[in-house]
Amino acid sequence: MNLCDIETIRTVLGRHGFHFSRSLGQNFLTDESVPRRIAEQSGAAEVGNVVEVGPGMGCLTAELCRRADRVVAIELDRALLPVLDETLAAFDNFLLVQGDVLSLDLSALCREQFGSARSVACANLPYYITTPVLTALLDSRAFERITVMVQKEVAQRICAAPGTAAYSAFSIYVQYHAAVEILFDVPADCFIPRPKVDSAVLQLTPLAAPAVHPKDEKLFFALVRAAFNMRRKTLVNALGPALGAAMGKEEIAGLVQSVGLDPRVRGERLSLADFARLADAAAARLAGV
Ligand code: SAM
Repeated sequence: MNLCDIETIRTVLGRHGFHFSRSLGQNFLTDESVPRRIAEQSGAAEVGNVVEVGPGMGCLTAELCRRADRVVAIELDRALLPVLDETLAAFDNFLLVQGDVLSLDLSALCREQFGSARSVACANLPYYITTPVLTALLDSRAFERITVMVQKEVAQRICAAPGTAAYSAFSIYVQYHAAVEILFDVPADCFIPRPKVDSAVLQLTPLAAPAVHPKDEKLFFALVRAAFNMRRKTLVNALGPALGAAMGKEEIAGLVQSVGLDPRVRGERLSLADFARLADAAAARLAGV
């Protein structure tokens, strides 16, 4: 069965009385080369164990099942359970977990399903929860590789460099934990129903140790958040809410200069290494060193 063929999709879904839910981000792939390329590049064949988020009617799941030893797919919509029973009947290395990916303990799920064996994550994500799902996948520390289709703009934001309009606090969060790469773009007409936005396949390779090593990680991310909450302001002004209780504006300006930055610089120009040096200097000042 070609699970990307529009007639097949309509026939199978119609037989089960299924209707697409926009609020669940249900846009299914109709170009069979896309799930094949995602599965090929996901590491499923090399690593063996896969967690998929949102199998839909199973086009990507089937490609993963062809390559991996075991595929565990998490689907929220109960209406898709009988559909998946039919479309994935040929595979005995597939387990469906019905539930909300955001309420699951992903590292516990991997331990339960794969023991201490390696695993990767793979998905055509429901776009309304892209940020929390990527955060949960990274925080679980359960995956060697995370290959996900996301809105193209979000992929560009995650991979953005300092000083560009797309660079954000989330770019820094992801780049702190993982190497990031856009594998390929996917136009909106590769889906049914057709979404309003283009998509891209993004690959995150979690790092063994963070990209930079601030002494106080919480303070590092507090400074990053403060800098981007008011990204049009200078860094010195933007840091007020994070450091203002302990330091005056002059002192913050001195702190910024002490790590070799111009006090008129905007936070959006700082690299991860700049933020780490700034956080270390701030931690030393706050400790009275
Ligand atoms: N993998 C299929 C494909 O590529 O054609 C479907 C992808 S569709 C973009 C997203 C899928 O995620 C849908 O099947 C949707 O029901 C499911 N989903 C939405 N919210 C979810 C959640 N919180 N937890 C798990 N699955 C969810």
